[in-house]
Amino acid sequence: MMRKETGYKRRTFLKKGLTGLAAVGAVPGAVKAAVLGAAGTGQAVAGGAQAKPIVRTLGRTGLKIPVVSMGVMNADNPAVVQAALETGIVMLDTAHGYQRGRNEQMIGEIIKGRPRDSYMIMTKVPGPNREKAMQGLDGAAVRKAFLERFDLSLQRLGLDHVEVLYLHNNSAPDHVKNPDMIGALETAKKSGKARFIGITTHSNEPAVIRATIEAKAYDVILTAYNFRQDHREEVRKAVAEAAAAGIGVVAMKTQAGAYWDKEKLQPINMRAALKWVLNDPNVATAIPGFTTFDQLKEDWSVVTDIALTPQELKDLHFEEQVAGLYCQQCGQCVAGCPKRLPIPDLMRGYMYAYGYRNLGLAHELVGSLDLAGDACGSCASCSAVCAKGFDVADRVRDISRLRTVPGDFFA
Ligand code: SF4
Ligand code: SF4
Repeated sequence: MMRKETGYKRRTFLKKGLTGLAAVGAVPGAVKAAVLGAAGTGQAVAGGAQAKPIVRTLGRTGLKIPVVSMGVMNADNPAVVQAALETGIVMLDTAHGYQRGRNEQMIGEIIKGRPRDSYMIMTKVPGPNREKAMQGLDGAAVRKAFLERFDLSLQRLGLDHVEVLYLHNNSAPDHVKNPDMIGALETAKKSGKARFIGITTHSNEPAVIRATIEAKAYDVILTAYNFRQDHREEVRKAVAEAAAAGIGVVAMKTQAGAYWDKEKLQPINMRAALKWVLNDPNVATAIPGFTTFDQLKEDWSVVTDIALTPQELKDLHFEEQVAGLYCQQCGQCVAGCPKRLPIPDLMRGYMYAYGYRNLGLAHELVGSLDLAGDACGSCASCSAVCAKGFDVADRVRDISRLRTVPGDFFA
């Protein structure tokens, strides 16, 4: 991918392994045919003419969705998203902020002219807990700002409604119980612009899920849920409670960073990771964030077969201590850092950069953190201990370099 010379090349940041980003623009016909099958129906991927996708109901919404959906967050090749829809994927997940709005625009272009009942869209808008521009506003102004952002999302998508509107990125029970946010979401639902409303969470998930149930306002929960979470059994219990309360549960971060290593030499077994979460019957669908035709093929192949083989279970390394790239956002490291750096956010940025290869998203996240100067500065030795065994100082110093990259570099 050629860009004008800025003194800094996109590849320079990761040093190696970014060729995959450029490669997604090329669509070998043979690969596409393998994904779509001879008739373009995806049956070849689904495992033969007899194989039928496993379809589950999204809680009280009644929406019936294949267990494999698509997280579009990292995708920048429209052909992959088009192929996903043609293969049989129905639900596309995006957000107001992804790629500074271009993600929703791309989806809008792809779905233009398609029958409205042939796809479903979930999008997310942040509330005052994440959106700096909303902080300090009174309740009415916060609701207005939230709904204006949602209207802009609909405009980008070219739609008059989405299936699910989420309050984005909640890490504390009071976020999802915020009466202004509930009011704004209910307004969107009453207007018909959102058929259903929900919340997303990728930290402190069990507490946030339980608060969401208590709020009695929401239809859907999109939660981080994967085999790498030390607290996965707690997430499983909370998910079961949500399902029992009629809330539809969607799983994200299912592939836990995609790679075990920064160098991208050891990919996580994607099929195994996806199967692991879909073995929880209370999960209606998962939104793996594939970006290539090969990954689409791999993820979609799970839709007819979620049985884990002994080898797949072994590949998930439950019995070993492997640091990996996925930060479970547990916050256990923070107390040990005398500077109280936002380590969980930085580690999420690290995963976006090295796991997902989404430097734009990592840059946006790191830039929002208001880090001063050299993040670790003169700290002689790192006293922040990671529950997963990350070398915290090394990763903080590495990902903090993104702050020196011009803001429009990844635009
Ligand atoms: S090296 Fe960085 S992350 Fe570690 S304790 Fe010091 S400031 Fe905190
Ligand atoms: S860096 Fe480690 S300890 Fe800190 S939030 Fe992430 S997984 Fe938890």
